[in-house]
Amino acid sequence: MNDFLQQLAAIVGPQHVLTSATDTAPYALDWRRRYQGAPLAVALPGSSAEAAAIVQLCRAQQVAIVPQGGNTSTCGAATPDASGRQLVVGLRRLRAIRDIDTDNNTLTVEAGVTLQEAQQAAEQAGRLFPLALASQGSCQIGGNLSTNAGGVAVLRYGTMRELTLGLEVVLPDGRVLDQLQGLRKDTTGLDLKQLFIGAEGQLGLITAATLKLFPLPSAHATAMAGVADIECAIRWLNGLRARFGDRLTAFELIDANCQAVLARHHPGLAPFAAPWLVLIELSDGGDAAALNDSLVAWLAEQDMLDGVAAQSESERRKLWTLREEISESQRLDGPSIKHDIAVPTSALPQLVRDCGAALAARFPGVRIVAFGHAGDGNLHYNVSFTRPGNLDLFDDEAAVNAIVYDHVYRLGGTLAAEHGVGQLKKDWLARYKDPLALELMRGIKRTLDPDGLMNPGKWL
Ligand SMILES: Cc1cc2nc3c(=O)[nH]c(=O)nc-3n(C[C@H](O)[C@H](O)[C@H](O)COP(=O)(O)OP(=O)(O)OC[C@H]3O[C@@H](n4cnc5c(N)ncnc54)[C@H](O)[C@@H]3O)c2cc1C
Repeated sequence: MNDFLQQLAAIVGPQHVLTSATDTAPYALDWRRRYQGAPLAVALPGSSAEAAAIVQLCRAQQVAIVPQGGNTSTCGAATPDASGRQLVVGLRRLRAIRDIDTDNNTLTVEAGVTLQEAQQAAEQAGRLFPLALASQGSCQIGGNLSTNAGGVAVLRYGTMRELTLGLEVVLPDGRVLDQLQGLRKDTTGLDLKQLFIGAEGQLGLITAATLKLFPLPSAHATAMAGVADIECAIRWLNGLRARFGDRLTAFELIDANCQAVLARHHPGLAPFAAPWLVLIELSDGGDAAALNDSLVAWLAEQDMLDGVAAQSESERRKLWTLREEISESQRLDGPSIKHDIAVPTSALPQLVRDCGAALAARFPGVRIVAFGHAGDGNLHYNVSFTRPGNLDLFDDEAAVNAIVYDHVYRLGGTLAAEHGVGQLKKDWLARYKDPLALELMRGIKRTLDPDGLMNPGKWL
């Protein structure tokens, strides 16, 4: 292995090969602290050519690679196993903004650029890159691509898949597939970039991407309102779509238990409590006051328990801070069995009602904290309860998951809407995913990575 590490150091420079336990520790533990790995080393390439040379070396020496971006995966997708034989390849040194073409509305960045840096680069050029996640200060474009990230603006702009025009990828054999064109139309065969989006690093190392840009909105109208039940929230979603069309940018949902968690850790943040809170945002060019007035007028006609419309950018930021603080508040609040599920939006009320009742029947006193991107049918659905004798909550994880996922799949849903599958959900995917679809995916994996060296131990 010393020989391998020396060759690695010759590629990236000795200072960019981390081997001590202290240096590798941040790369060995996942964000939720559920998976503790032990990497052989961490290599930090500084260019696509160095990344390709690392992959070639690993292939020659049969060393497995775990690609890692910002390490914000919530399902252990970027964590190595405990064997001490997997090399983490961290992409954080690939930080160049290669090109901004404002006429073509495209941005070409390297994989280690954080989402926030990509947003800022777009804004400085007078454009919007609309992907927005609470983890955007840490997560990287390569990670966003590999998880097909979603977030709060999918309703209007789509997921990372829909925001990507081109990719540069180091294949598992070390060749570089350069598909960085910024074309919106191209009918010359299969769209190969789609293979790598959502593949969680199992088919190659993404080193750069060409992304779509949009006009920077000059007006936002943001409101938070309380509704009596989730049926009402879905009626509002459709009403807002009918009234405002594409200007409806975000429609987020927060249940009463989630509001209580926020109140415990961020007192004073939620303007009021309700069975369900909806956070609505419209965006457009033109006049902000007019947009705000039309949202307020629409809300005045609705069956609303309480409501507040942001009158300034700082009030708008406060409403969004509330939404963004949910994950951290939940973390402070103690363990829960987490789900990132989606069903057709029309089925959300039935899911909440039936699944909640089934969990309460099996686990009396169960507490469900639900919030998420209701406009996409996507709920973060987190389950906790106190077990007699202080037994570990996670002893019942399989029973809880079976109840939740049975309900989700009965309603035509998915067990991984935007956070990916990783290690956490790989066995569940094998149980619920169409076997033919899985067989086809495994065939692609065998073709591209016959030695199984790209991110082994995950779901492929
Ligand atoms: C507080 C918080 C809020 C979040 N909110 C959202 C949300 O609203 N929506 C959402 O979609 N997600 C959300 N996430 C999940 C997470 O931030 C996303 O999955 C993000 O896209 C991961 O990016 P990353 O750079 O951290 O990737 P990592 O965690 O480092 O890796 C994720 C996966 O991508 C692979 N990978 C990383 N970089 C590359 C590369 N260059 N080439 C090939 N494979 C690579 C890894 O091997 C791994 O399989 C949230 C996470 C946190 C902690």
